Amino acid sequence: MTNPIEVRNPRTGKLDYTIVPPSSNWLEQQCLRLRQGQKHWLKMGVKGRIAALQQWKQAILSERDRLTEALVNDTGRLSISVMEIDSFLSSIDRWCQLVPELLSESTKSTTIPFIQLQQTSSPYALVGVISPWNFPLLLSTIDAIPALLAGCAVIIKPSEIASRFVAPLLTAINAVPDLRDVLTFVEGGGATGANLIEYVDLVCFTGSVLTGRKVAEAAAKRFIPAFLELGGKDPAIVLPSANLDLATSAILWGSIVNTGQSCLSLERIYVAESIFEPFVNKLVAKAKSLQLAYPTVESGEIGPIIAERQAAIIREHLLDAIEKGAIVLCGGTVENKDGGWWCHPTVLTQVNHSMIVMTEETFGPIMPVMAFSTVEEGINLANDTIYGLSAAVFAEEKEALAVAQQINAGAISVNDAGLTALIHEGEKNSFKYSGLGGSRMGEAALRRFLRKKAFLVKTNSAPDPWWF
Ligand code: NAD
Repeated sequence: MTNPIEVRNPRTGKLDYTIVPPSSNWLEQQCLRLRQGQKHWLKMGVKGRIAALQQWKQAILSERDRLTEALVNDTGRLSISVMEIDSFLSSIDRWCQLVPELLSESTKSTTIPFIQLQQTSSPYALVGVISPWNFPLLLSTIDAIPALLAGCAVIIKPSEIASRFVAPLLTAINAVPDLRDVLTFVEGGGATGANLIEYVDLVCFTGSVLTGRKVAEAAAKRFIPAFLELGGKDPAIVLPSANLDLATSAILWGSIVNTGQSCLSLERIYVAESIFEPFVNKLVAKAKSLQLAYPTVESGEIGPIIAERQAAIIREHLLDAIEKGAIVLCGGTVENKDGGWWCHPTVLTQVNHSMIVMTEETFGPIMPVMAFSTVEEGINLANDTIYGLSAAVFAEEKEALAVAQQINAGAISVNDAGLTALIHEGEKNSFKYSGLGGSRMGEAALRRFLRKKAFLVKTNSAPDPWWF
């Protein structure tokens, strides 16, 4: 487990970063240390915890340049890295504002007049977070912030493909005495992730279905909760009443942002046959206007494919589709430039569900567009998947909502795309293989880290009527 892991730079292909995974014994000691720290963290109360997280935010601001540089080296893209940092910092503020009310305790009367109910919540002592490489900062902290505010200690194991960003965050954690005993990051690969599950009380996992199943099994063996946020194959449905300019712009963004390396990328586009041609023409024109972020990180909109293994998957999906008759209207190749893997926005037509590009997660800037003749057929095609993460529907609002209600997914953007990436208020559950457990979004996200306790208090001294 302690063999070093050499990490590839997505722009140069060079192995320019090394991770030395911890021994099992070291990991166990870290978990014990955090467990110990959690006792004081809980006693600090919610106000104290908010103050510590605000101090952390200030310390991160002092590390901002280093953090940006590390994240750019992890992912090869600049503007999304800046957005990730902004979004992470604003989520600290958002949770700090919400949490006092969410953690307020209540005393209530019950159906029996002389029995009072006091409800409190008890946080899990130690939460383990295991996260992926596509949004390394956001997805390693999205669960950690509410967990910390709920009163848990947190240990985070980010993806071995992108964990350079950890060093500046650790510096910022060390600058906050109250935080350093309850929050840490540990770098390592899958073995470290698996090992971590042995020592925590709850696990938040974001990643593939394949690994999610292993995590769920390991957590089940220990009877600890596992919240799984897994892959997707999100559909978009475009009906004749849609505004085609708006639909093509939204779908282009929803499919291509972060080079399509997003769980909620639109990866299948179903368009009513009466508007298929104008829709495709507009989409192709807009797709062609986007440029690679090459040769410099400041240029263009489309960053490199971060993980080398993903480049191979994208190529496999494209070749399979082309072999089975798909037409490439733009893009269509995965090329190596100076060691990095790149793919132009790609529009495919003549696609069907025998092609893996329509059934398996591609995680690349690929937009396969398929025509349908009735609304029912469009809905059936959208639901013909093992996934159920999110979706998008484009039509006159009432009609779009009626269709959206029939899609088996947890979050549906109407006349827009990927809104759950930006709006975290809406509670949602993943359907089918896209995940398991409580909502990561909305107020329910915090409740995942709390166990409810009910204190039932007898308030009179008369014998209860049901006693012997
Ligand atoms: P992955 O499953 O390969 O790895 C995810 C994490 O799990 C990594 O940190 C890895 O080291 C760790 N890991 C590997 N084996 C493990 C094991 N046996 N036990 C414990 N941990 C282990 O996923 P990835 O390739 O890093 O990420 C891409 C996937 O993540 C895609 O499927 C994408 O859709 C999904 N994703 C989902 C969401 C969501 O919110 N639903 C968000 C982003 C990404």
